[in-house]
Amino acid sequence: MRAAVLYNIRDLRLEDVSTPEFSTDEVLIKVNATGVCGTDIHIYRGEWKTSMPIILGHEFSGVIVETGRDVKNLKIGDPVVAEPNILCGSCYFCRMSERNYFCENLKATGVTINGAFAEYVKTKAENVYKVTEGFNLDEAALIEPLACCVRGIDQAKVRTGDTVAIVGAGPIGLILLQLVKLAGASMVIQTDMEDARLKLARDLGADHTINVAEEDPVEAIKRLTGGYGVDVAIEAVGSPKAITQAMKATRRGGRLNIFGVSPEDAVWEVKPFELYEKELTITTSYRSPFTFQRAVKIALSGKVKLKPLISHIFRLEEIHRAFEVAEKRLEGAVKVLVKP
Ligand SMILES: [Zn+2]
Ligand SMILES: [Zn+2]
Repeated sequence: MRAAVLYNIRDLRLEDVSTPEFSTDEVLIKVNATGVCGTDIHIYRGEWKTSMPIILGHEFSGVIVETGRDVKNLKIGDPVVAEPNILCGSCYFCRMSERNYFCENLKATGVTINGAFAEYVKTKAENVYKVTEGFNLDEAALIEPLACCVRGIDQAKVRTGDTVAIVGAGPIGLILLQLVKLAGASMVIQTDMEDARLKLARDLGADHTINVAEEDPVEAIKRLTGGYGVDVAIEAVGSPKAITQAMKATRRGGRLNIFGVSPEDAVWEVKPFELYEKELTITTSYRSPFTFQRAVKIALSGKVKLKPLISHIFRLEEIHRAFEVAEKRLEGAVKVLVKP
């Protein structure tokens, strides 16, 4: 099969490789589309370490073409998405009553093991979720980031009536925006550096948008909230500067969720006194622990719009261009998909 194999930092090669061999509890999926995620870009740039060579791509949709002998609940032809994170089920964290994704033997399709920038991908049947026949499979490739955002909303504890600021209007920020609206926020303020993304945010329901290249987002958010700041701020950029903006835009006693993934060696400088004085509740959000099922239900309900987030679709042969467009946010890039 054709696949994009990452050999080293920025050394991505299109190659013919053998189709993945699957075991009795796994399925083989013919890939329909795979999203280019910030995580892919981090790994591509060497900001996130993983073992190479590897086929990246963890946000994918497709159709089942083979099933292992022990697979009962899925059949050939099923349109599916898959949770990339694979837990061992027996380590210290996996055996805690509240299972999270701190599995000591965690594997992730397209991050630590071969993923979906390829014609085929294999995974465990227990990680697979069916989508309804006829649901747009390109949009289904965004269910993985949606599942991560569901976790973010759980962590941020958004309540009905809250005022919320979302720092960043990339694919994640724009999904978070819609989930925050569904949760009943009374006002959502979204920030970004690009007007096209802010326009999309307004189209998707943001009450106010702020271009951080033109005005101080903290002052603007305070002005919109009677000088207090928002009840909840969610950082969806992955940079210390954005975290600081989100923190300063949160009211006293408010909640800050640091959702974005900063580069591994980035450092957030903060005055502890400022945190003390505000009595902030700070949470982070790690992957999508058991939120996939809810994400599939929300996507199928149509209550979160995924299609407007897809700005580019490339063929697998154009993977280098796809990564360039996603990395440099060329041509108004939001979510870039790759189709084999
Ligand atoms: Zn992702
Ligand atoms: Zn484990």
